[in-house]
Amino acid sequence: MPARTGAQYLEGLRAHPRDVWLGGRRLEDVTAHPAFRRPIARLARLYDLQHDPAHAGTLTCVDETGDRTGTAFLIPRTYDDLVARHRAFRVWAEDTFGLMGRSPDFLNCTLAAFADAADVFARGGQRYADHIRRYYEYVRAHDLLLTHALIPPQNDRSRTSGDQQAPFLHMGIVRETSDGPVLRGARMLATLGPIADEVLVYSLPGLRPGEEAHAIVFALPIDTPGLRQICRPPYDRGDLDPAEHPLASHFEECDSLIVFDDVLVPWERVFLYRDVDLCNALYPDSNLRQYTGHQTAVRGLVKLEFAVGVLMQIAQAVKTDVHLHVQDLLGECVNDIEIVKSCIARSEFEYETTPRGTVRPAFEPLITLRTWLPRVYPRIIEILQIVGAGGLLMVPSAADFDSPIAEDVRKYYQGAAAPALARTRLYKLAWDLAGDAFGMRQLQYERYYNGDPVRTTAGHYQSYDKSTCLDLAQRALQLFDAPAVTGD
Ligand SMILES: Cc1cc2nc3c(=O)[nH]c(=O)nc-3n(C[C@H](O)[C@H](O)[C@H](O)COP(=O)(O)OP(=O)(O)OC[C@H]3O[C@@H](n4cnc5c(N)ncnc54)[C@H](O)[C@@H]3O)c2cc1C
Repeated sequence: MPARTGAQYLEGLRAHPRDVWLGGRRLEDVTAHPAFRRPIARLARLYDLQHDPAHAGTLTCVDETGDRTGTAFLIPRTYDDLVARHRAFRVWAEDTFGLMGRSPDFLNCTLAAFADAADVFARGGQRYADHIRRYYEYVRAHDLLLTHALIPPQNDRSRTSGDQQAPFLHMGIVRETSDGPVLRGARMLATLGPIADEVLVYSLPGLRPGEEAHAIVFALPIDTPGLRQICRPPYDRGDLDPAEHPLASHFEECDSLIVFDDVLVPWERVFLYRDVDLCNALYPDSNLRQYTGHQTAVRGLVKLEFAVGVLMQIAQAVKTDVHLHVQDLLGECVNDIEIVKSCIARSEFEYETTPRGTVRPAFEPLITLRTWLPRVYPRIIEILQIVGAGGLLMVPSAADFDSPIAEDVRKYYQGAAAPALARTRLYKLAWDLAGDAFGMRQLQYERYYNGDPVRTTAGHYQSYDKSTCLDLAQRALQLFDAPAVTGD
């Protein structure tokens, strides 16, 4: 089946009522709830772009069955395939200004990585490799929207999952049946969970021997009996005025905690089972980080370009950009954009070829971005706050422009290079991005969506090929014993 439309996505949501809780109430139909209407419409728009003649050729490609399916599902075999994927990521990222971190292409990349690395799953038994490959084909054929929940809830981070204050706080296998394992406990943080079609669950490395009950990789339809979602309070309940909150009213990405209340996972949906070593090896050995790192780097670049664009417009509107130190801050942001672009290009030029004949972007530049972007994005937001200063808060409401004090508003809120209405809109855009609850979630997202940046950066140091740096230092140390060059 070919890539789906927005209307088909909506039909799928309606056809599968799920156990979603928001504000103490169970929602019968997420499509009918005001808090989800806008996010659903945004996602539907992304699916519709797959059929827009201007983008269809980029967002979809012909798979081995002859169908036109999403380009993010493509398992690349050439440099050109990598570039095709990059272009597709960019189209959806530009449509959302990079603000929907979990646009469907993110987890489509995960599945493509897993399918490409089916041999890694086969280490636990050939049937698991068959399961993951079939699941990839199923999701691609139906163009399903996946959420994922990798992290146990924050209960006691000084203890392992198997040693929390109550058994099965952290999701694990409570018993096994002939139909499949039964799961109990919770996982987070399922972005788009309430409006997804399926949930995919795997783990970040870190399980210890003895934690076999927590070593499982699987996927389930979101309406599976016993699977419950508890939503965080939304920032937009469908009532935010776009004239006051231009971003929050368009790009809310709902998040949920998933409770597994004795959920049966059919065997054909189990991809890894009770194997702690394999569970820990999956992340590095499946090339997952290159597949998803490529998508998140392109999306992250668009988001940086957008944030820096807002910053530049503010500096130009009130001419703070005439000051040297403001130019220095703007220059810092421009450098960041160029560094990200260079890392992405290098990851594509220096692609790696697998024994299977597939290719993947180079690891080093992408892991560098993965550990560096969580620091760069907060810095750019800080610069936006510094340059915007009090003006970010000092904005009139949209209604003031159409009121008895409109003359005052037009006079006192004008910028040097922007009339009052344009300047006000610009500052509201900036506050949504850099000040309000929506913007703070965006910031927290960039810091943490890829895991804990501290441990990831430390891990990069540990695994880095240090030989060039160490050799240079070693050669310099030999100068102590070398005769000085006199030039005679
Ligand atoms: C907006 C947002 C959206 C997200 N979306 C998703 C999603 O769609 N799917 C998903 O699975 N996850 C998602 N995540 C979750 C993300 O993967 C986690 O936030 C991230 O892995 C960090 O885990 P944590 O939040 O539990 O923090 P913790 O791991 O509890 O860390 C909290 C602090 O304690 C320190 N710390 C804790 N434990 C240790 C330790 N053992 N060693 C050293 N330091 C430690 C950390 O350095 C950090 O400073 C999202 C997160 C955010 C913020």
